[in-house]
Amino acid sequence: MAMAMRRAAALGARHIFLAASASASSTSRVISRRHMSSVDAGAAMEKIRAAGLLRTRGLIGGKWVDAYDGKTLEVQNPATGEILANVACMGNKETSDAIASAHTTFYSWSKLTASERSKTLRKWHDLLIAHKEELALLMTLEQGKPMKEALGEVNYGASFIEYFAEEAKRVYGDIIPPTLADRRLLVLKQPIGVVGAITPWNFPLAMITRKVGPALASGCTVVVKPSEFTPLTALAAADLALQAGIPAGALNVVMGNAPEIGDALMQSTQVRKITFTGSTAVGKKLMAGSANTVKKVSLELGGNAPCIVFDDADIEVAVKGSLAAKFRNSGQTCVCANRILVQEGIYEKFASAFVKAVQSLEVGNGLEESTSQGPLINEAAVQKVEKFVDDATSKGANVILGGKRHSLGMTFYEPTVVGNVSKDMLLFREEVFGPVAPLIPFKTEEEAIHLANDTNAGLAAYMFTTSIPRSWRVSEALEYGLVGVNEGLISTEVAPFGGVKQSGLGREGSKYGMDDFLEIKYVCMGNLS
Ligand code: NAP
Repeated sequence: MAMAMRRAAALGARHIFLAASASASSTSRVISRRHMSSVDAGAAMEKIRAAGLLRTRGLIGGKWVDAYDGKTLEVQNPATGEILANVACMGNKETSDAIASAHTTFYSWSKLTASERSKTLRKWHDLLIAHKEELALLMTLEQGKPMKEALGEVNYGASFIEYFAEEAKRVYGDIIPPTLADRRLLVLKQPIGVVGAITPWNFPLAMITRKVGPALASGCTVVVKPSEFTPLTALAAADLALQAGIPAGALNVVMGNAPEIGDALMQSTQVRKITFTGSTAVGKKLMAGSANTVKKVSLELGGNAPCIVFDDADIEVAVKGSLAAKFRNSGQTCVCANRILVQEGIYEKFASAFVKAVQSLEVGNGLEESTSQGPLINEAAVQKVEKFVDDATSKGANVILGGKRHSLGMTFYEPTVVGNVSKDMLLFREEVFGPVAPLIPFKTEEEAIHLANDTNAGLAAYMFTTSIPRSWRVSEALEYGLVGVNEGLISTEVAPFGGVKQSGLGREGSKYGMDDFLEIKYVCMGNLS
């Protein structure tokens, strides 16, 4: 979405929020919550500032710099609408300088031994963990996710740096048996060069480390562009990278005018790879824009995850797993269960147990300990959820639980369960990216597979069954990059993450995560006799 529109939507949310606070029947509850969270937010910001991790300028060539024209961008707390900070709003010129700096540094960084790069990355990992609380607070403040989830993301995000620090030492080439006796044939793997990494707001740290970890480990240098909604976490992480000894220019951060920054990265012949996580629409633009300079492109795009509950499922396991898969980060993850397909024989039983579990979710400001569901990122996100629910009910679905904005304010939406959803509804066809669980009844295994695959997306899928033959059959039939069997949280640094069809290209994490940052070179040594 264009920056101006997104900003306007966010501002709209703030104004409407204030109006709602003054007029709602639950005024006192809303105001006291707001007051409490703003006090907590102030203390949290102080803690972050005291640790030296409140950075608001971009990072180019190891220096913290303002936008060249002095423009800034407001970063808001989606739970309260408060402005947390003004950060540099950069564009083409700053990005070009960041690319030049990354290009110069590539020659020295890539010449270090793998062991030297590994040690520096390891230090970065240790600093991320040492500053776990400040990073988690930043994420809760600018993204809204509950502190427990934010702390989990710091561990998850840091795990990619640790994993790829280790993997740096395992970039092996090959020696191929020659076809002529006086020749030796070698395969070298070498870093691709400067990488442009564009990341979304829903995982402000982990989507960066999942890219920057393997890039730096393999000897590449990077220009990162975080989302305009969550630049503070990215800047704090970059500060810790500098402290760890990642050299000036190896890791640069620019944020602001997304199309300008994207264009600068795509048009540069020095940038050899674009790695992107975000919406399918923007991913397609970046793929097309990279054609002119024939860059490598990796894309982690949107999903439309089916979560299939078969008659033979263990209901407790199925409820726990679907709840986790659906409601993490208030439904704002690419692997969130977007369609819960439930077999007829278990539909009523599952629906009632699932609704009970959803009722136990506590909505609130992520800084409050009891919160398990934070706000959505902005007003536009809430409007999208409303549109999807209205579309479903107008076509015959029934709201079993929730179905409206939460009394806390305009970015909060009630955890919602919608029954009898069918193929013609938006809730089936597109990613809702919010706390709405659509239940879709089905009769047979074949029908479930057909419904699950009836989408252009192919990122994550889940199934709940106690049948071992079925778990194999269905896993193999699902057109998805990730499959969870009797488990709703499956992502880890040691396993490959990525989608098929229009959910993306390439894999992140695991030993496969290095491949996209390496070029293969064949060397033929002749006349050796
Ligand atoms: P988005 O709107 O595509 O934004 C992602 C990033 O792209 C942001 O940094 C954004 O900048 C930037 N961007 C926007 N327009 C651009 C352009 N023309 N050129 C270059 N960069 C541009 O996605 P989002 O709303 O942040 O994230 C939600 C989406 O990400 C969902 O679809 C979700 O499924 C997907 N996602 C996928 C994965 C995965 O691993 N497959 C993981 C997480 C999220 P600004 O924010 O500054 O505008």
